[in-house]
Amino acid sequence: MTEQTSDGMSRRRAVQALGIGSAAIAFNTASGLWATSAAAATANGSGLEKLPRFDGTLHIDAATRKQYAQDFGHIVHEYPLAVLKPGSVADVKRMLVFARRHGIRIVGRGKGHTTFGQAQILAGVVIDISKLQTIHSITADEADVDVGVRWNALLKSTLRQGLMPPALTDYIGQTVGGTLSVGGIGGMAHRQGAQIDNVRELQVVTGDGELVVCSETRDRELFEAALAGQGQVAVIVRAKIKLVRAPARIRVFNLIYADLPTMTAEVTRLIEEQRFDFLEGFSLPQANGLWIHLLQAGSYYTPPAEPDDAALLAGLHDVRIALQIEDTDFWTFANRVQIDDSAGQPHPWIDLMLPYPAIDGFVDAVERTLKPVAEGDLFSVLLIPMKPSLFSRPLFRAPATEHAFGFGILRYLPPGNDEAVAQALAYNRQLFDECLGMGGTHYPISAVQLERVDWKRHYGPEFDRLVRAKARHDPGNVLASGPDIF
Ligand SMILES: Cc1cc2nc3c(=O)[nH]c(=O)nc-3n(C[C@H](O)[C@H](O)[C@H](O)COP(=O)(O)OP(=O)(O)OC[C@H]3O[C@@H](n4cnc5c(N)ncnc54)[C@H](O)[C@@H]3O)c2cc1C
Repeated sequence: MTEQTSDGMSRRRAVQALGIGSAAIAFNTASGLWATSAAAATANGSGLEKLPRFDGTLHIDAATRKQYAQDFGHIVHEYPLAVLKPGSVADVKRMLVFARRHGIRIVGRGKGHTTFGQAQILAGVVIDISKLQTIHSITADEADVDVGVRWNALLKSTLRQGLMPPALTDYIGQTVGGTLSVGGIGGMAHRQGAQIDNVRELQVVTGDGELVVCSETRDRELFEAALAGQGQVAVIVRAKIKLVRAPARIRVFNLIYADLPTMTAEVTRLIEEQRFDFLEGFSLPQANGLWIHLLQAGSYYTPPAEPDDAALLAGLHDVRIALQIEDTDFWTFANRVQIDDSAGQPHPWIDLMLPYPAIDGFVDAVERTLKPVAEGDLFSVLLIPMKPSLFSRPLFRAPATEHAFGFGILRYLPPGNDEAVAQALAYNRQLFDECLGMGGTHYPISAVQLERVDWKRHYGPEFDRLVRAKARHDPGNVLASGPDIF
């Protein structure tokens, strides 16, 4: 019988393709390198230790290591020693137990959509959780999934039953584990919170190699350290996600505002009224040097019911002559962001969160100071309306004000221009400092150079919580990925 890896390739073929198999690799405990020769097969206490048998595959070839020294940012390239494509949760546990014993550093990885090496590990092992992709069950109010499942795959399955996760991000090609490790925010956050607020239970493998089920009522400390925990205490392997009724369609009103303060003030009112299901803002640079302020306000509906356009638009302060209305089925809308990353363009994106009304002055300054650093440097600013009281997970560091805005610069640089990347990173760092100085916070998917002292600032009063959880669940500091917090 042919044994299948989780991505469908027969294990024998995978082994042949790489010229290695887990049984033929040993770890040299003295040098910290792998041994793949016949010596490995006869490892017997000579300083070589055989690896556990994996249900999936362990890859140490140069091409795979190069592939995992990449991410959407195309800025950081940290070569791992090896990549584990697990065939089971047991594999994740086996790898972490082995890593703890030998001081190997591990990072959990989804699809690598982060921008600054957060899912990379220098001279350690990447565990590619995206290979675990079983949807175990979907009931009327909950999905039980391996977290390697992408949100688009989950949504496709839930929509068949007229259901959806309450909070989606703009782009939905990330893994469930990838966004639960950071937060997961989008145009629904002002009503539903972040994706981490809509999780009922997790299964995680701690840095100590323990498989633990945790929730608000069961090992809450671990649950809260895993959600938005950047993979620092545990690798998330499975999650129970809340589901709600999905609409068949959404009508989106594209509202243009003469200035940003008018738009943000309007947004705070709309949040309180719960007038729309979806709200997202943009500042878009124009060729004449001016910026346009666009608010997308969406209303869910399922025919034969129809949104009442007049009621939804009543009393708004947009430039009405510029109004455009789009009406789409919900699946098309949820998939509106597609990425083509084949050109390998650097993406020095930054994501912050600012209190209202400080956001107005902050964006105004950005509009005056954000300049192209190279020919072909394209950028826009994204604004995500938030009601921070809906955020319930301590490691998700939003401003504790009544209203706040997620702020992101989506930037596309031409490939091969290191000087331009350096300038963009310096600008990001400046914005990080200014934002924190204004009572804002950082959403840690960004390309910003941070030191340990910055992480302490970032977590503020919650830093001790993370330190305690780390000491308890990952005392060997095995989970030591990109952010370099510990
Ligand atoms: C085009 C685009 C649009 C985006 N839009 C949004 C948006 O609207 N809202 C939003 O919130 N984000 C957005 N993001 C950011 C994205 O959601 C995050 O970067 C997310 O973490 C990426 O998921 P991933 O599966 O690719 O994870 P990766 O990039 O592989 O990993 C991200 C981080 O999570 C950790 N991690 C991953 N899986 C696990 C796991 N199972 N257990 C423990 N730790 C793990 C990694 O170690 C790393 O630190 C966008 C990104 C892109 C490229």
